[in-house]
Amino acid sequence: MPARTLNNYILVVLDSCRYDTFMAAAPRTLNSLGTIERRWSYASWTAPAHYNLLMGLLPHASPRHVYASEYYKRDFLRYNERLGTEQIEFKSLVPHLYLPTFLKRHLGYRTHALVSLPVLNPATVLNKDFDTFTLMPKHNDMAAMLDRMVFSPDYPSFYLLNVGETHYPYALPDEPEEQWPKIHGVHGVFKHLDEIAVGGKLREEGEGRKFFDQDKLDLLRARQIEAVRYLDGVFEHLFDLLPPHTYVTVTADHGELFGEEGYFGHGPINHEKVYEVPFVEGKLR
Ligand SMILES: [Zn+2]
Repeated sequence: MPARTLNNYILVVLDSCRYDTFMAAAPRTLNSLGTIERRWSYASWTAPAHYNLLMGLLPHASPRHVYASEYYKRDFLRYNERLGTEQIEFKSLVPHLYLPTFLKRHLGYRTHALVSLPVLNPATVLNKDFDTFTLMPKHNDMAAMLDRMVFSPDYPSFYLLNVGETHYPYALPDEPEEQWPKIHGVHGVFKHLDEIAVGGKLREEGEGRKFFDQDKLDLLRARQIEAVRYLDGVFEHLFDLLPPHTYVTVTADHGELFGEEGYFGHGPINHEKVYEVPFVEGKLR
């Protein structure tokens, strides 16, 4: 099929963004994209969740009375609408089972990743069949990604944007680092191990004092809501710069715990709030 008739496709992943955070922020621009759905991530932390997304399997709706294989096939047919074609079947993805490979080798897309979290850096196995794969200089600056996006009328483009403002410490790009909330242990892990073990059960300190108090966790949750409100303005700029015939999906890789049942963060956590994510998509203009 002539490549230039295909839609550009933009997959935006708001890292760690909970569904109820997203709804509390009531993002006007994102709401205009389509119906906001409550969906479920296949994984509880960044690396496996992104691998799953790049297999083409977006967060699921937890359907009952259907076999997984049937759901995968049905879900994959949605790419016909996203990409603006009718020729995609699930077998199109075989044997690589990797969306960038399919888009680049079979459909002639230029494929790009702009990522915020170092656990997704260009040396990882996720970087396969991407024309460019960039770890952004800051973990929390989606607006800076917009300057790096290029489109051509001659070929369709795919962009994965991994957005970090919604990730701990839920900081906006202009907030000085010394004003970020400091959580002993978590902050060190975030800075030095790049979020590999951010989550975990709350621990008690030796003197019996709570490691985190709920007031602080409530403050962190409020910061994540504020991050979504801020990002809605960045999406307004993004939607202005995207050319016609562009389809956009916005979701999260996993949720985040803010004290429920003694958990903070994501990763080694089995709780529904770590899987519950927002999902909205639609074609621009
Ligand atoms: Zn993540």
